[in-house]
Parts: sequence; C-alpha cells; structure tokens
Amino acid sequence: MRDFVKNECEPIDILFPHHGDPYDTKNAKARAVIAPLQEAVKAQGLWACHLDPHLGGKGYGQLKLAYMNEILGRSYWAPTIFGTAAPDTGNAEILAMFGTDDQKARYLQPLLDGTIVSTFSMTEPQAGADPKEFVCRAYQEGNEWVIEGEKWFSSNARYAAFLIVMAVTDLDAPAHSRMSMLVVPTDTPGIEIVRNVGTIGDDPAHDEGIHGYIRYNKVRVPLDAMLGGPGEGFKVAQARLGGGRVHHAMRTVGKCQRAFEMMQERVVSRRTQGKLLADHQFVQGMIADTAIELEQYRLLVLKTAWVIDNEPHGAARTLIAMCKVAMAKIYHDIVQRAIQIHGSYGVTNETPLAAMWMGLPSLALADGPTEVHKVQVAKAFTRHAKPSVGLFPSEHIPTRRDAALAKYADILGGASVLEAAE
Ligand SMILES: Cc1cc2nc3c(=O)[nH]c(=O)nc-3n(C[C@H](O)[C@H](O)[C@H](O)COP(=O)(O)OP(=O)(O)OC[C@H]3O[C@@H](n4cnc5c(N)ncnc54)[C@H](O)[C@@H]3O)c2cc1C
Repeated sequence: MRDFVKNECEPIDILFPHHGDPYDTKNAKARAVIAPLQEAVKAQGLWACHLDPHLGGKGYGQLKLAYMNEILGRSYWAPTIFGTAAPDTGNAEILAMFGTDDQKARYLQPLLDGTIVSTFSMTEPQAGADPKEFVCRAYQEGNEWVIEGEKWFSSNARYAAFLIVMAVTDLDAPAHSRMSMLVVPTDTPGIEIVRNVGTIGDDPAHDEGIHGYIRYNKVRVPLDAMLGGPGEGFKVAQARLGGGRVHHAMRTVGKCQRAFEMMQERVVSRRTQGKLLADHQFVQGMIADTAIELEQYRLLVLKTAWVIDNEPHGAARTLIAMCKVAMAKIYHDIVQRAIQIHGSYGVTNETPLAAMWMGLPSLALADGPTEVHKVQVAKAFTRHAKPSVGLFPSEHIPTRRDAALAKYADILGGASVLEAAE
C-alpha cells in the first residue's frame, strides 16, 4: 500500500488538486486515470476495507484499518482510489444499518461500487454544533414527506447523486426524537443550491467551493424515503459520526507522518551557521517534540481502534472524542513546525504543506467543534467521580498520616511519624 499510494496516488494529487476533484464523477479525465487504479486495489483485496464482508469489504476491523488509513491519509486522492472516502463511507454505513432493501439497492450499491457520491445534509445556517436548534422541517402530505428549510455546509452536494437530510418531523416530540433522516435524490424538484461555499485556500477565481448552502423548497419524497424510523434522526446521525471521526483521526496520523518526513529530509539537506539544521538544538527540539507527540497520538488512535474491535459497542465513545480533539491540535503543531523548518519555502504553494495548513481549521470544526468533544471527555471523567469526604481532599497527607499510624499502632506502639522512622 505504501508504494502504491506514493507512486500511483500522490501524482494524481498533483494533477487534480482542487477540493472537489475526487468527488466529481463527471470529470472524465480524472476518472479515466483512476479507474485502473481502483481496479488494481480491488484485485488486491483492498477495496472499501472499512466495510464488513457482507457489504463487499474485507472485515479487517478497525485496528488494521487504522494502519491502512495512516497510509491513505498521506494522499488526497487515495481514499477515493481505495473506496474509503468520507462522507460516502459514513453514508454507506447508515444505509447498510438502517436502509430498506430498496434503499440499499438504489443508493448503497452504487456508492460501494464508487460510481456515485453522496452528501450528508445536517448542519443549518443558524445552527451547527447543537442539532437541537435545527428547524428544517419535513411534514407529511398524502403519501409524501415535504421538506422545507435550509442546510449549510452540505459537502459535495454539487456532485452528489443523493442527499441524506436530517429534518424535524415532529415539532412536539422531545428534542432528541424530533428529527428523522430522509434520503433525497439530488434531481428532485425544489432542491436549490443557493451557493457552493468555498473554504480557506480555495481559489475564488478557479471555481466555487464544494460545501452546499441548500434551500429545500417544498421538496417532495415518498414516505419510504425515510432512513430509520420516525424520530430516529439523532440515532442515525450518531451511528455515522463516530466512525467518521475515528477514520479522520487515522488519516491525520498519515498526514502528520508525511509532514514529519519532510522535516527530517529538510534538516539534513540545509545548512546555516556552518552546520546542518539537524545540528542546531532548537531544530532538534522540534524534531524530538514531533516524534514524541506523533507517537503518542498514533497510539491513542490505535488504542481506540482496538477498543472498537474488542469491547462492547459504545465503549470507545470517549476515546473517539479524545482522538477528535487531539487530531486538530497535533496536526496544527506538526504542520506549523514543518513550515517553520522549511523557512520561506515552507510558506510557498510549492509543497504539500500549504494545503495541509489550509485544512487545519476545518479539522477542529467538521464533525463537531473541539469544544463540544472536550466537554464530552470531561464529563466522562467526572460523571462517576466521588466528592471527598470531609473538609480536605482524600490525598491530604496529615489525615493519611494519622490513618497510617493508627493502622500500624500495634507495631509502632503509638509512636509519631518521626519516632517511627528512627
Ligand atoms: C470542512 C467541513 C466540512 C463539513 N461537512 C459537513 C457536511 O458534509 N454536512 C453537514 O451537515 N455539516 C458539515 N460541516 C459542518 C460541521 O458539522 C459544523 O461546522 C460543526 O458541527 C459546527 O457547527 P457550526 O459551524 O455551525 O459552529 P457553531 O455551532 O456556530 O459553533 C461555533 C463555535 O462555538 C463554540 N461552541 C459551539 N458549541 C459549544 C459548546 N457546546 N461548548 C463550548 N463551545 C461551543 C465552538 O468554539 C464552535 O467552534 C462541515 C464543516 C466543515 C468545516
């Protein structure tokens, strides 16, 4: 995989570098270039490895996937060439988990084959991190759901064959059961892409961005377009977001590793003050910090993957949140150091570091902002913590000293600590 990604996928990053390129199934040239590579991946038994065998994957489990995603994360195109690109992976998972036979045949199979791409349409212009604030509605009229409202940052909507839309279907239900998921083909009348929003680093002269600001103008879909049951929108969303986050975290290990390798090459190639950069202590500090932090982060991701594979469903929830928080920070710190070590060359658009830098803020926002995940981690560690008994903390040494003396009073004969030590 390492050789294949380096020699076959990374050149495609150079040829088709724009944000939407891997998702644009109508770009005949790009598709012609990657088609034989996708076939090679399938022949090697490495296609869509995130999936269980009954869905065409290998069922390798998350731990192996973590090692594989580390390799794939180095290249922008590699996930598409290996059938593991987000958000299609998450959408495929929820179609597999909650879809009817008809939905699976119509949407899941072409998604798994890599012939179409899809969009997850949840965030709204007025609310993102807190889905309880969502207002986009779907109401029943005859034998149809009618969707009315707006969605924001629906990634890849301009290329997608269908959208999975989260909409309020029961205004009176408790917050977590007010919403449902609907699968909506993108050619359904009433879908208006107000604009394709670009992100930092997108060249406004080149094209629009890839994140759809969508208005649903009384978009009608049949009743059986619902994915999961009525009011199960939260449940379905949660089922996809956990996997999505941990897979991003795995790929981020690879991106960090690539930046680190660039640092290592540069410091033994460049001289200043009569010696290599590698021989200057400040630079050594940057190399050492990067090696240590990257290894710590990699091990956190691998542990998370191991827990997903080996412990009951939900056991990795806090670990996934920890990975989500850590990935934005470590990616920032390592890419920043890599740029610094490359000097002025580091800030040019002539290395992969520029695109990495532009992607930093998104990592701390997409799939939920860092703060929300930190809150979740903190709550997990304080929810079952017990308050101290009495005025002082349970680690209060004078109290513990008294207790220790009392415990061994029959041996020490009521001596003080000083006397006992003599
Ligand atoms: C590259 C990218 C791709 C995306 N793709 C999709 C997609 O395909 N589909 C989709 O539906 N959405 C998508 N999103 C949207 C993403 O899910 C939201 O950006 C995210 O949930 C945060 O919502 P928001 O942007 O509205 O921020 P807000 O909810 O406005 O939050 C703004 C800030 O407020 C603070 N904050 C929020 N909540 C809390 C809290 N509980 N405690 C403390 N501070 C808090 C944080 O600093 C946060 O960054 C994407 C976003 C990005 C950047």
